Amino acid sequence: MSAPRPQVRAILALGSNLGEREGTLQSAVADLVDRPEVRLHNVSPVVATKAIGGPLGQPDFLNMVIAIDTTLEPLELLAHCQAVELSHHRTREVRWGARTLDIDIISYGSVTSEDPVLTLPHPRAALRAFVLYPWSLMDPQATLAGASVAELAGAADDMAGIAHVQDVPLEQDS
Ligand code: ATP
Ligand code: CA
Ligand code: CA
Repeated sequence: MSAPRPQVRAILALGSNLGEREGTLQSAVADLVDRPEVRLHNVSPVVATKAIGGPLGQPDFLNMVIAIDTTLEPLELLAHCQAVELSHHRTREVRWGARTLDIDIISYGSVTSEDPVLTLPHPRAALRAFVLYPWSLMDPQATLAGASVAELAGAADDMAGIAHVQDVPLEQDS
């Protein structure tokens, strides 16, 4: 008999700026945790964020972060996230353009990887208030590569573009 795989805490960032954005995020969270290898640990509030870096005139992004405990290996988790993206009819024409759903793995335990297929921690997360700010609301003590997530959020250039914080977090397991 093989030993049971360990549970690893992973942070996922979800974003949507097309279609029924809030409904997409809610059902994406449900889909992500709808398998025995994934358990929902915590859910951030949803923040609205000005789309940056892509074509002008896009709708705002809704962004949120969740913490999961999973026995999936990193690449299995990436495949799972991509399957959930596809099941929400993710469409996108240009890089950083509008999309129905984007799910990034921000961190997977303390694993580091330079692999372009799965870079860990996510190489741009430390600069992105739309990841750092909801994460800091979910877990004020959180750290990313040894730095305070709340402090990184305060220093991020896009912090001023965070337009609104939803008052009521999505439902979560206890
Ligand atoms: P960004 O990565 O800057 O947020 P993006 O989310 O728009 O941009 P995608 O087109 O969704 O980029 O992903 C491109 C590739 O990035 C994916 O095919 C995936 O293999 C790779 N990738 C590398 N590291 C990660 C990670 N930590 N989480 C998710 N995808 C990653
Ligand atoms: Ca992304
Ligand atoms: Ca992505």
